[in-house]
Amino acid sequence: MTSQKILTYFINRRLRQFRQLIDKLDLDRVQRKISTVDINQSEFSKRVNAVNILRHSAINSPYYRKTLPKYIRKLDRKNVYSILRTLPFTTSAAVSANSEDFLAIPKSEVISVHFTYGTTGNKKTIFNSKNDLQRLKYSYILGMINCGINPSDIAQIVYSYGVWALASHIQDALRTLEIVVLPTGNYMNFQDQKKFIEEFETTVIFGTPSYVYNLAKEIGLSERSKGKMKAIMMGGEGLPEHRRKIIEERLGGEVFLNYGLNEFGGGIGSECKAHNGYHVFPSSILEIIDPQTEELVEDGEWGELVLTSLSREAMPLIRYRTGDISRIILGNCECGMKLPRIDYIKGRADDRVIIGAAEKYYPIVFDKLFDSITEVQDYWIEIIREDERDTMKVYILTKNGSKSLEQKIIDKLYSLDSIKVDIETTKTLNKPQIIIVNKLPNNNIKRRRLVDKRKFKP
Ligand SMILES: [Zn+2]
Repeated sequence: MTSQKILTYFINRRLRQFRQLIDKLDLDRVQRKISTVDINQSEFSKRVNAVNILRHSAINSPYYRKTLPKYIRKLDRKNVYSILRTLPFTTSAAVSANSEDFLAIPKSEVISVHFTYGTTGNKKTIFNSKNDLQRLKYSYILGMINCGINPSDIAQIVYSYGVWALASHIQDALRTLEIVVLPTGNYMNFQDQKKFIEEFETTVIFGTPSYVYNLAKEIGLSERSKGKMKAIMMGGEGLPEHRRKIIEERLGGEVFLNYGLNEFGGGIGSECKAHNGYHVFPSSILEIIDPQTEELVEDGEWGELVLTSLSREAMPLIRYRTGDISRIILGNCECGMKLPRIDYIKGRADDRVIIGAAEKYYPIVFDKLFDSITEVQDYWIEIIREDERDTMKVYILTKNGSKSLEQKIIDKLYSLDSIKVDIETTKTLNKPQIIIVNKLPNNNIKRRRLVDKRKFKP
């Protein structure tokens, strides 16, 4: 046996032993192991796994057979990262164009598929092997244990039980922890969700931030139910601070955000009790690039997250451009865990819009502005070109449209110096137009909040 094989054997044996502790529900020991993870050992294992996954991809994936260079065969643990950084990026468009081209195991060994629709609405098929599902399940479990979830909990899943399969992956993880699951999904009305919370004394809720936020706003939970609630676990989108507070106040419990990627089956990283970014699990290699130049940025600078999956055998993705903008958080986390951290996602690289005198905006800027106005249920902004200047058409979804609400929106926009200056001084921006609406545009793909409708973009 080569040393690579021997090392892989020992890494997998350690992993099996760790999973056995979880299966036996010996969660105290699991927790101790997580908090005392030796970062050097973990980095070493990552290198061994990276060599395996790059070789596996180059040999077995039709897409990577074509795109990875021949020198990939000369990989070893020492040069694996420097070689990785020379490899071509994988784009979301390539995966949606032909998902099956990425399949690196015989189709007969695929035991589950799920689907994802990006902001462009093109479908991607994601294949999983038996091992992939196991790894996925245990990564969810680790995230849960880390947030203090244990077999005494009652979990209510308000994610959609749809094609992206997140709800069923979470359910599998919860069942392993012998936790009672209420699979209420997101299709019943809020008052019925409330009845489940109260009747079964739910202690953990799993859902998307926007759904849970609306749930929290609509239902008045009894103090007793709030007292029972331990954690609200959310993922799939970001969460402005203001909304986090409202959710915690109205539902009880502590909010934990997760960052996942459907293309990787979910779970990339999760918040700890310090709530300062996401700890990234060792199951992927993280890089941050400038989305325009594609060069790596310095540690701590903002850029597009690029991920390489170390643990997905059915459909490995090498240097996958996530489109998500984040940065590495420097320094140690106060929780004591050594796993590296990334900041909350600031936006998507393709959501960034330049408005007025070359100022770049992500939707989160406007999320923050409008979130503090209680009448605003939702919004989107179209940028058009009129009289050689940019115009922001701000659509506001509300039940209570009024002139004073319109004025509040305008005041909020003017509170951003860059917008005020571009309207009044540089004259690159017209006054914003506020349009009150009572329903959202009707489409089922992920909705964009900043839509660039100019023919000639700066
Ligand atoms: Zn931490």
